[in-house]
Amino acid sequence: MDGTFNENDLSRVVEADRAHIWHHLIQHKPFETNDPRIIVEGKGMRVWDQKGKEHLDAVSGGVWTVNVGYGRESICKAVYDQLMKLCYFANSAGSIPGALFAEKLIEKMPGMSRVYYTNSGSEANEKAFKMVRQIAHKKYGGKKTKILYRDRDYHGSTLAAMSAGGQDERNAQYGPFAPGFIRVPHCMEYRKHELDGAPEENFGEWAADQIEEVILREGPDTVGALCLEPVTAGGGVIEAPEGYWQRVQEICKKYDILLHIDEVVCGVGRTGTWFGYQQYGVKPDFVTMAKGVASGYAAIACMVTTEEVFDMFKEDASDPMGYFRDISTFGGCTAGPAAAIENMRIIEDENLLANCVAMGDRMTGNLQALMEKHKVVGDVRGKGLFLGAELVADRASREPVDEKLAQAVVADCMAQGVIIGVTNRSVPGRNNTLCFSPALIATADDIDQITDAVDGALGRVFG
Ligand code: PLP
Repeated sequence: MDGTFNENDLSRVVEADRAHIWHHLIQHKPFETNDPRIIVEGKGMRVWDQKGKEHLDAVSGGVWTVNVGYGRESICKAVYDQLMKLCYFANSAGSIPGALFAEKLIEKMPGMSRVYYTNSGSEANEKAFKMVRQIAHKKYGGKKTKILYRDRDYHGSTLAAMSAGGQDERNAQYGPFAPGFIRVPHCMEYRKHELDGAPEENFGEWAADQIEEVILREGPDTVGALCLEPVTAGGGVIEAPEGYWQRVQEICKKYDILLHIDEVVCGVGRTGTWFGYQQYGVKPDFVTMAKGVASGYAAIACMVTTEEVFDMFKEDASDPMGYFRDISTFGGCTAGPAAAIENMRIIEDENLLANCVAMGDRMTGNLQALMEKHKVVGDVRGKGLFLGAELVADRASREPVDEKLAQAVVADCMAQGVIIGVTNRSVPGRNNTLCFSPALIATADDIDQITDAVDGALGRVFG
Protein backbone atom coordinates (compact mmCIF):
# COMPACT_ATOMS: atom_id res chain seq x y z
CA MET A 1 0.00 0.00 0.00
CA ASP A 2 1.60 3.32 -0.98
CA GLY A 3 -1.39 5.53 -0.30
CA THR A 4 -1.24 7.21 -3.74
CA PHE A 5 -4.41 8.69 -5.15
CA ASN A 6 -5.38 10.02 -8.56
CA GLU A 7 -4.66 13.77 -8.42
CA ASN A 8 -7.56 14.74 -10.71
CA ASP A 9 -10.10 12.84 -8.66
CA LEU A 10 -8.55 14.23 -5.53
CA SER A 11 -9.12 17.89 -6.34
CA ARG A 12 -12.70 17.06 -7.31
CA VAL A 13 -13.27 15.28 -4.00
CA VAL A 14 -11.81 18.15 -1.99
CA GLU A 15 -13.94 20.69 -3.83
CA ALA A 16 -17.09 18.55 -3.49
CA ASP A 17 -16.39 18.20 0.21
CA ARG A 18 -15.75 21.92 0.66
CA ALA A 19 -18.92 22.75 -1.27
CA HIS A 20 -21.34 20.21 0.17
CA ILE A 21 -20.24 18.44 3.32
CA TRP A 22 -21.34 19.64 6.71
CA HIS A 23 -18.74 17.93 8.90
CA HIS A 24 -19.48 16.69 12.40
CA LEU A 25 -18.45 18.65 15.46
CA ILE A 26 -16.07 21.11 13.81
CA GLN A 27 -16.18 24.69 12.60
CA HIS A 28 -15.82 25.23 8.85
CA LYS A 29 -14.07 28.60 8.71
CA PRO A 30 -10.59 26.99 8.40
CA PHE A 31 -11.68 25.36 5.12
CA GLU A 32 -11.81 28.82 3.52
CA THR A 33 -8.02 28.77 3.56
CA ASN A 34 -7.09 25.10 4.13
CA ASP A 35 -8.29 21.96 2.42
CA PRO A 36 -10.56 19.69 4.41
CA ARG A 37 -8.80 16.46 5.36
CA ILE A 38 -10.00 13.46 3.38
CA ILE A 39 -9.08 10.03 4.68
CA VAL A 40 -8.60 7.87 1.63
CA GLU A 41 -7.44 4.46 2.81
CA GLY A 42 -6.77 2.43 5.92
CA LYS A 43 -4.80 -0.71 6.69
CA GLY A 44 -4.21 -2.15 10.15
CA MET A 45 -3.41 0.75 12.51
CA ARG A 46 -2.71 3.24 9.75
CA VAL A 47 -4.65 5.58 7.46
CA TRP A 48 -3.60 7.67 4.45
CA ASP A 49 -4.94 11.10 3.62
CA GLN A 50 -5.49 12.81 0.25
CA LYS A 51 -1.86 13.87 0.09
CA GLY A 52 -0.72 10.27 0.52
CA LYS A 53 0.53 11.09 4.02
CA GLU A 54 0.55 8.11 6.39
CA HIS A 55 -0.90 8.50 9.90
CA LEU A 56 -0.77 6.13 12.83
CA ASP A 57 -4.33 6.21 14.13
CA ALA A 58 -4.33 6.31 17.94
CA VAL A 59 -8.07 6.96 18.15
CA SER A 60 -9.55 4.08 16.11
CA GLY A 61 -11.25 6.15 13.44
CA GLY A 62 -11.51 9.31 15.55
CA VAL A 63 -14.17 8.12 17.97
CA TRP A 64 -13.18 4.76 19.51
CA THR A 65 -14.67 2.69 16.71
CA VAL A 66 -12.32 0.64 14.51
CA ASN A 67 -11.37 -1.82 17.26
CA VAL A 68 -9.95 -4.56 15.00
CA GLY A 69 -8.15 -2.17 12.63
CA TYR A 70 -8.64 -1.27 8.97
CA GLY A 71 -8.73 -3.46 5.87
CA ARG A 72 -10.11 -6.67 7.36
CA GLU A 73 -10.92 -8.76 4.34
CA SER A 74 -12.89 -11.40 6.27
CA ILE A 75 -15.34 -8.80 7.61
CA CYS A 76 -15.78 -7.25 4.15
CA LYS A 77 -16.42 -10.70 2.71
CA ALA A 78 -18.95 -11.59 5.41
CA VAL A 79 -20.79 -8.33 4.68
CA TYR A 80 -20.64 -8.86 0.91
CA ASP A 81 -21.93 -12.43 1.13
CA GLN A 82 -24.76 -11.40 3.43
CA LEU A 83 -25.79 -8.42 1.30
CA MET A 84 -25.93 -10.63 -1.79
CA LYS A 85 -28.14 -13.08 0.10
CA LEU A 86 -30.41 -10.58 1.88
CA CYS A 87 -29.59 -6.91 2.47
CA TYR A 88 -32.55 -5.95 4.57
CA PHE A 89 -35.84 -6.86 6.03
CA ALA A 90 -37.67 -4.97 8.80
CA ASN A 91 -36.84 -6.44 12.16
CA SER A 92 -40.41 -7.48 12.89
CA ALA A 93 -39.11 -10.53 10.98
CA GLY A 94 -35.80 -12.14 11.89
CA SER A 95 -32.60 -12.56 9.86
CA ILE A 96 -29.85 -15.17 10.01
CA PRO A 97 -27.03 -12.81 11.07
CA GLY A 98 -29.38 -10.91 13.42
CA ALA A 99 -30.19 -14.08 15.35
CA LEU A 100 -26.66 -15.52 15.26
CA PHE A 101 -24.97 -12.31 16.40
CA ALA A 102 -27.49 -11.98 19.25
CA GLU A 103 -26.70 -15.53 20.34
CA LYS A 104 -22.94 -14.86 20.25
CA LEU A 105 -23.30 -11.57 22.08
CA ILE A 106 -25.44 -12.97 24.85
CA GLU A 107 -22.83 -15.72 25.43
CA LYS A 108 -20.48 -12.91 26.47
CA MET A 109 -23.02 -11.19 28.71
CA PRO A 110 -24.13 -13.54 31.50
CA GLY A 111 -27.45 -12.40 32.96
CA MET A 112 -28.56 -10.65 29.77
CA SER A 113 -30.92 -12.18 27.28
CA ARG A 114 -32.56 -9.96 24.63
CA VAL A 115 -31.03 -7.84 21.86
CA TYR A 116 -32.87 -4.89 20.30
CA TYR A 117 -31.22 -3.56 17.11
CA THR A 118 -31.20 0.21 16.54
CA ASN A 119 -29.70 2.83 14.21
CA SER A 120 -27.14 4.46 16.51
CA GLY A 121 -25.82 4.65 20.04
CA SER A 122 -28.06 7.64 20.83
CA GLU A 123 -31.06 5.71 19.69
CA ALA A 124 -30.08 2.57 21.60
CA ASN A 125 -30.05 4.73 24.74
CA GLU A 126 -33.42 6.20 23.86
CA LYS A 127 -34.89 2.70 23.49
CA ALA A 128 -33.90 1.96 27.08
CA PHE A 129 -35.34 5.34 28.20
CA LYS A 130 -38.62 4.51 26.48
CA MET A 131 -38.73 1.10 28.12
CA VAL A 132 -38.15 2.67 31.54
CA ARG A 133 -41.02 5.08 30.90
CA GLN A 134 -43.31 2.30 29.69
CA ILE A 135 -42.45 0.12 32.70
CA ALA A 136 -43.33 3.10 34.92
CA HIS A 137 -46.78 3.23 33.32
CA LYS A 138 -47.33 -0.53 33.28
CA LYS A 139 -46.00 -1.38 36.72
CA TYR A 140 -45.90 1.76 38.85
CA GLY A 141 -49.07 3.65 37.93
CA GLY A 142 -47.19 6.28 35.90
CA LYS A 143 -44.61 6.98 38.62
CA LYS A 144 -40.93 6.03 38.45
CA THR A 145 -40.48 7.82 35.13
CA LYS A 146 -37.39 9.79 36.15
CA ILE A 147 -34.02 8.85 34.71
CA LEU A 148 -30.82 9.81 36.51
CA TYR A 149 -27.65 10.58 34.58
CA ARG A 150 -24.24 11.79 35.66
CA ASP A 151 -22.37 15.04 35.28
CA ARG A 152 -19.71 14.70 32.49
CA ASP A 153 -21.35 11.58 30.94
CA TYR A 154 -22.64 11.67 27.36
CA HIS A 155 -25.37 9.48 25.94
CA GLY A 156 -25.88 10.82 22.42
CA SER A 157 -26.87 13.63 20.13
CA THR A 158 -30.65 13.23 19.85
CA LEU A 159 -32.78 15.41 22.09
CA ALA A 160 -33.80 12.85 24.72
CA ALA A 161 -30.23 11.50 24.80
CA MET A 162 -29.03 15.08 25.29
CA SER A 163 -31.58 15.49 28.08
CA ALA A 164 -29.49 12.83 29.80
CA GLY A 165 -26.31 14.66 28.82
CA GLY A 166 -23.87 15.74 31.52
CA GLN A 167 -21.73 17.86 29.21
CA ASP A 168 -22.95 21.44 29.38
CA GLU A 169 -20.91 22.64 26.44
CA ARG A 170 -22.45 19.99 24.16
CA ASN A 171 -25.92 20.93 25.36
CA ALA A 172 -25.61 24.72 25.16
CA GLN A 173 -28.21 26.35 22.83
CA TYR A 174 -30.11 23.10 22.17
CA GLY A 175 -32.64 23.25 25.00
CA PRO A 176 -35.30 23.02 26.16
CA PHE A 177 -34.74 19.36 26.92
CA ALA A 178 -37.12 16.53 27.78
CA PRO A 179 -38.44 16.57 31.35
CA GLY A 180 -37.71 13.89 33.94
CA PHE A 181 -33.95 13.61 33.46
CA ILE A 182 -32.10 14.39 36.68
CA ARG A 183 -28.37 14.98 37.05
CA VAL A 184 -26.17 13.38 39.71
CA PRO A 185 -22.58 14.49 40.45
CA HIS A 186 -19.54 13.03 38.69
CA CYS A 187 -17.19 10.59 40.41
CA MET A 188 -13.88 11.92 39.18
CA GLU A 189 -11.19 11.43 41.80
CA TYR A 190 -8.77 13.90 40.16
CA ARG A 191 -11.34 16.71 40.35
CA LYS A 192 -13.02 15.79 43.61
CA HIS A 193 -11.79 19.08 45.10
CA GLU A 194 -14.38 20.75 42.86
CA LEU A 195 -17.21 18.84 44.58
CA ASP A 196 -18.61 20.30 47.83
CA GLY A 197 -17.85 18.08 50.81
CA ALA A 198 -15.90 15.39 48.96
CA PRO A 199 -13.70 13.47 51.43
CA GLU A 200 -10.04 12.54 51.01
CA GLU A 201 -10.76 8.90 51.91
CA ASN A 202 -13.47 6.61 50.50
CA PHE A 203 -14.35 9.03 47.73
CA GLY A 204 -15.90 6.24 45.60
CA GLU A 205 -18.51 5.38 48.20
CA TRP A 206 -19.14 9.04 48.92
CA ALA A 207 -19.69 9.76 45.20
CA ALA A 208 -22.20 6.89 44.97
CA ASP A 209 -23.92 8.17 48.12
CA GLN A 210 -24.48 11.47 46.31
CA ILE A 211 -26.68 9.51 43.90
CA GLU A 212 -28.70 8.20 46.84
CA GLU A 213 -29.13 11.76 48.08
CA VAL A 214 -30.60 12.78 44.73
CA ILE A 215 -32.94 9.76 44.80
CA LEU A 216 -34.14 10.70 48.27
CA ARG A 217 -34.61 14.33 47.25
CA GLU A 218 -36.61 13.39 44.13
CA GLY A 219 -38.52 10.61 45.90
CA PRO A 220 -37.51 6.97 45.30
CA ASP A 221 -40.98 6.17 43.96
CA THR A 222 -40.40 8.65 41.10
CA VAL A 223 -37.00 7.34 39.92
CA GLY A 224 -37.04 4.53 37.34
CA ALA A 225 -33.45 4.23 36.13
CA LEU A 226 -29.85 5.31 36.51
CA CYS A 227 -27.85 5.65 33.28
CA LEU A 228 -24.03 5.62 33.51
CA GLU A 229 -21.01 5.18 31.28
CA PRO A 230 -18.75 2.40 32.67
CA VAL A 231 -15.75 4.63 31.97
CA THR A 232 -16.75 8.15 31.01
CA ALA A 233 -15.40 8.82 27.52
CA GLY A 234 -15.69 12.33 26.03
CA GLY A 235 -16.23 13.82 29.49
CA GLY A 236 -12.57 13.19 30.32
CA VAL A 237 -11.78 9.42 30.32
CA ILE A 238 -12.92 8.86 33.88
CA GLU A 239 -12.81 5.53 35.66
CA ALA A 240 -14.93 5.45 38.82
CA PRO A 241 -12.93 5.10 42.02
CA GLU A 242 -12.78 2.01 44.24
CA GLY A 243 -16.04 1.30 46.06
CA TYR A 244 -18.24 3.25 43.64
CA TRP A 245 -19.83 0.49 41.59
CA GLN A 246 -20.62 -1.75 44.53
CA ARG A 247 -22.52 1.11 46.22
CA VAL A 248 -24.25 2.01 42.94
CA GLN A 249 -25.52 -1.56 42.63
CA GLU A 250 -26.73 -1.58 46.25
CA ILE A 251 -28.54 1.73 45.79
CA CYS A 252 -30.30 0.55 42.62
CA LYS A 253 -31.42 -2.62 44.37
CA LYS A 254 -32.57 -0.77 47.49
CA TYR A 255 -34.81 1.64 45.57
CA ASP A 256 -35.88 -0.71 42.75
CA ILE A 257 -34.08 1.39 40.13
CA LEU A 258 -33.04 -0.10 36.79
CA LEU A 259 -29.35 0.20 35.98
CA HIS A 260 -28.57 1.23 32.41
CA ILE A 261 -24.92 0.98 31.37
CA ASP A 262 -23.98 2.90 28.22
CA GLU A 263 -21.25 0.80 26.57
CA VAL A 264 -21.32 2.72 23.30
CA VAL A 265 -17.58 3.40 23.69
CA CYS A 266 -16.41 0.64 26.07
CA GLY A 267 -18.40 -2.19 24.49
CA VAL A 268 -16.75 -5.07 22.64
CA GLY A 269 -13.25 -5.05 23.99
CA ARG A 270 -12.09 -1.48 24.43
CA THR A 271 -11.24 -1.82 28.15
CA GLY A 272 -9.81 -5.36 27.90
CA THR A 273 -13.02 -7.20 28.77
CA TRP A 274 -15.95 -7.66 26.41
CA PHE A 275 -17.81 -4.92 28.27
CA GLY A 276 -16.63 -2.22 30.62
CA TYR A 277 -19.16 -3.05 33.35
CA GLN A 278 -17.65 -6.56 33.58
CA GLN A 279 -14.55 -4.99 35.14
CA TYR A 280 -16.58 -3.91 38.15
CA GLY A 281 -18.87 -6.87 38.92
CA VAL A 282 -22.01 -4.90 38.06
CA LYS A 283 -25.29 -6.51 36.97
CA PRO A 284 -27.07 -4.09 34.63
CA ASP A 285 -30.68 -4.18 33.44
CA PHE A 286 -29.90 -2.41 30.15
CA VAL A 287 -26.66 -2.31 28.17
CA THR A 288 -26.35 -0.16 25.06
CA MET A 289 -23.55 -0.43 22.50
CA ALA A 290 -22.57 0.83 19.06
CA LYS A 291 -19.10 1.93 17.96
CA GLY A 292 -16.91 -1.15 18.36
CA VAL A 293 -19.67 -3.70 17.75
CA ALA A 294 -18.65 -4.12 14.11
CA SER A 295 -15.55 -1.87 14.24
CA GLY A 296 -17.23 0.55 11.81
CA TYR A 297 -17.35 -1.96 8.91
CA ALA A 298 -21.14 -1.62 8.93
CA ALA A 299 -23.46 0.49 11.05
CA ILE A 300 -24.88 -1.43 13.98
CA ALA A 301 -26.07 -0.50 17.45
CA CYS A 302 -28.17 -2.31 19.99
CA MET A 303 -29.83 -2.25 23.36
CA VAL A 304 -29.50 -5.45 25.36
CA THR A 305 -31.67 -6.30 28.34
CA THR A 306 -32.67 -9.12 30.68
CA GLU A 307 -35.42 -11.70 30.36
CA GLU A 308 -36.99 -10.06 33.40
CA VAL A 309 -37.41 -6.77 31.53
CA PHE A 310 -38.55 -8.59 28.38
CA ASP A 311 -41.19 -10.43 30.42
CA MET A 312 -42.73 -7.13 31.47
CA PHE A 313 -43.59 -6.46 27.82
CA LYS A 314 -45.20 -9.82 27.09
CA GLU A 315 -48.71 -10.07 25.67
CA ASP A 316 -51.38 -9.24 28.19
CA ALA A 317 -55.05 -9.23 27.19
CA SER A 318 -55.81 -6.61 29.84
CA ASP A 319 -53.22 -4.23 28.28
CA PRO A 320 -53.19 -4.51 24.48
CA MET A 321 -50.84 -1.47 24.25
CA GLY A 322 -48.40 -3.00 26.72
CA TYR A 323 -45.81 -4.46 24.34
CA PHE A 324 -42.88 -2.36 23.12
CA ARG A 325 -44.40 -0.42 20.22
CA ASP A 326 -41.18 0.79 18.64
CA ILE A 327 -39.15 0.35 15.47
CA SER A 328 -35.83 1.43 13.93
CA THR A 329 -35.72 1.14 10.16
CA PHE A 330 -32.06 0.25 9.92
CA GLY A 331 -32.33 -2.14 12.85
CA GLY A 332 -33.33 -4.50 10.05
CA CYS A 333 -30.06 -4.17 8.12
CA THR A 334 -28.19 -7.44 7.93
CA ALA A 335 -24.73 -6.01 7.13
CA GLY A 336 -24.28 -4.85 10.76
CA PRO A 337 -24.77 -8.19 12.50
CA ALA A 338 -22.88 -10.04 9.72
CA ALA A 339 -19.90 -7.74 10.31
CA ALA A 340 -20.32 -7.95 14.09
CA ILE A 341 -20.12 -11.76 14.12
CA GLU A 342 -16.84 -11.67 12.20
CA ASN A 343 -15.56 -8.79 14.36
CA MET A 344 -16.10 -10.88 17.50
CA ARG A 345 -14.49 -13.94 15.93
CA ILE A 346 -11.39 -11.88 15.16
CA ILE A 347 -11.20 -10.57 18.72
CA GLU A 348 -11.42 -14.12 20.04
CA ASP A 349 -9.12 -15.85 17.54
CA GLU A 350 -6.44 -13.17 17.71
CA ASN A 351 -6.66 -12.93 21.49
CA LEU A 352 -7.23 -9.19 21.26
CA LEU A 353 -8.67 -8.74 24.75
CA ALA A 354 -5.37 -9.94 26.22
CA ASN A 355 -3.46 -7.71 23.78
CA CYS A 356 -5.63 -4.79 24.82
CA VAL A 357 -4.68 -5.32 28.47
CA ALA A 358 -0.98 -5.78 27.70
CA MET A 359 -0.77 -2.78 25.35
CA GLY A 360 -2.93 -0.72 27.70
CA ASP A 361 -0.44 -1.41 30.49
CA ARG A 362 2.45 -0.46 28.22
CA MET A 363 0.78 2.76 27.16
CA THR A 364 -0.14 3.65 30.74
CA GLY A 365 3.50 3.12 31.73
CA ASN A 366 4.71 5.28 28.84
CA LEU A 367 2.24 8.05 29.71
CA GLN A 368 3.24 7.90 33.37
CA ALA A 369 6.85 8.34 32.27
CA LEU A 370 5.74 11.45 30.35
CA MET A 371 4.15 12.68 33.56
CA GLU A 372 7.57 12.49 35.25
CA LYS A 373 9.12 14.45 32.40
CA HIS A 374 6.44 17.08 31.64
CA LYS A 375 4.84 18.81 34.60
CA VAL A 376 1.90 19.79 32.40
CA VAL A 377 0.68 16.17 32.54
CA GLY A 378 -1.37 16.21 35.73
CA ASP A 379 -3.09 12.82 35.56
CA VAL A 380 -3.00 9.63 33.51
CA ARG A 381 -6.05 7.39 33.68
CA GLY A 382 -8.31 4.90 31.93
CA LYS A 383 -8.65 1.19 31.36
CA GLY A 384 -7.22 -1.12 28.68
CA LEU A 385 -6.69 0.81 25.45
CA PHE A 386 -9.01 3.58 26.55
CA LEU A 387 -6.68 6.13 28.12
CA GLY A 388 -6.47 9.83 28.85
CA ALA A 389 -3.83 12.31 30.01
CA GLU A 390 -5.13 15.48 31.61
CA LEU A 391 -3.06 18.61 31.03
CA VAL A 392 -2.88 21.20 33.80
CA ALA A 393 -1.27 24.63 34.03
CA ASP A 394 -0.50 24.02 37.68
CA ARG A 395 -0.21 20.63 39.38
CA ALA A 396 -1.05 21.88 42.85
CA SER A 397 -4.29 23.70 41.95
CA ARG A 398 -5.04 21.36 39.01
CA GLU A 399 -5.99 24.40 36.96
CA PRO A 400 -6.58 23.11 33.42
CA VAL A 401 -4.38 24.34 30.58
CA ASP A 402 -5.97 26.62 28.01
CA GLU A 403 -7.71 24.19 25.69
CA LYS A 404 -6.03 25.78 22.68
CA LEU A 405 -2.75 24.42 24.04
CA ALA A 406 -4.22 20.92 24.35
CA GLN A 407 -5.36 21.26 20.73
CA ALA A 408 -1.86 22.39 19.77
CA VAL A 409 -0.50 19.10 21.13
CA VAL A 410 -2.97 17.22 18.94
CA ALA A 411 -1.95 19.32 15.90
CA ASP A 412 1.73 18.72 16.58
CA CYS A 413 1.15 14.94 16.78
CA MET A 414 -0.81 15.14 13.53
CA ALA A 415 2.13 16.87 11.86
CA GLN A 416 4.28 13.95 13.06
CA GLY A 417 1.85 11.49 11.47
CA VAL A 418 0.11 10.37 14.67
CA ILE A 419 -3.60 11.03 15.22
CA ILE A 420 -4.55 11.47 18.87
CA GLY A 421 -7.70 13.04 20.35
CA VAL A 422 -8.66 15.63 22.93
CA THR A 423 -11.89 16.10 24.84
CA ASN A 424 -13.92 18.40 22.64
CA ARG A 425 -16.63 20.90 23.58
CA SER A 426 -17.83 18.75 26.43
CA VAL A 427 -17.41 20.28 29.88
CA PRO A 428 -16.83 24.07 29.92
CA GLY A 429 -13.19 24.87 30.68
CA ARG A 430 -12.38 21.18 31.02
CA ASN A 431 -11.56 20.19 27.44
CA ASN A 432 -7.97 19.54 28.47
CA THR A 433 -7.63 15.75 28.36
CA LEU A 434 -5.67 14.06 25.58
CA CYS A 435 -7.44 10.86 24.49
CA PHE A 436 -5.90 7.62 23.27
CA SER A 437 -7.79 4.62 21.95
CA PRO A 438 -5.66 2.74 19.46
CA ALA A 439 -7.10 -0.40 17.86
CA LEU A 440 -6.86 -3.57 19.93
CA ILE A 441 -4.29 -4.92 17.44
CA ALA A 442 -1.70 -2.29 18.46
CA THR A 443 1.87 -3.55 18.86
CA ALA A 444 4.48 -2.35 21.35
CA ASP A 445 6.13 -0.37 18.52
CA ASP A 446 2.84 1.35 17.69
CA ILE A 447 2.30 2.29 21.33
CA ASP A 448 5.84 3.65 21.63
CA GLN A 449 5.45 5.63 18.41
CA ILE A 450 2.30 7.26 19.78
CA THR A 451 3.78 8.21 23.14
CA ASP A 452 7.05 9.37 21.53
CA ALA A 453 5.00 11.72 19.36
CA VAL A 454 3.19 13.05 22.43
CA ASP A 455 6.53 13.50 24.20
CA GLY A 456 7.85 15.61 21.31
CA ALA A 457 4.62 17.60 21.06
CA LEU A 458 4.52 18.38 24.79
CA GLY A 459 8.13 19.56 24.60
CA ARG A 460 7.42 21.89 21.68
CA VAL A 461 4.08 23.27 22.95
CA PHE A 462 5.02 23.73 26.62
CA GLY A 463 8.83 24.00 26.44
N1 PLP B 1 -22.95 7.11 24.33
C1 PLP B 1 -21.65 7.38 24.42
C2 PLP B 1 -20.91 7.07 25.67
C3 PLP B 1 -21.00 7.98 23.34
O1 PLP B 1 -19.69 8.32 23.43
C4 PLP B 1 -21.73 8.24 22.15
C5 PLP B 1 -21.06 8.85 20.98
O2 PLP B 1 -19.95 9.28 21.02
C6 PLP B 1 -23.09 7.92 22.13
C7 PLP B 1 -23.67 7.35 23.22
C8 PLP B 1 -23.91 8.23 20.89
O3 PLP B 1 -23.67 7.30 19.90
P1 PLP B 1 -24.06 7.68 18.37
O4 PLP B 1 -23.16 8.77 17.94
O5 PLP B 1 -23.87 6.38 17.66
O6 PLP B 1 -25.49 8.09 18.39
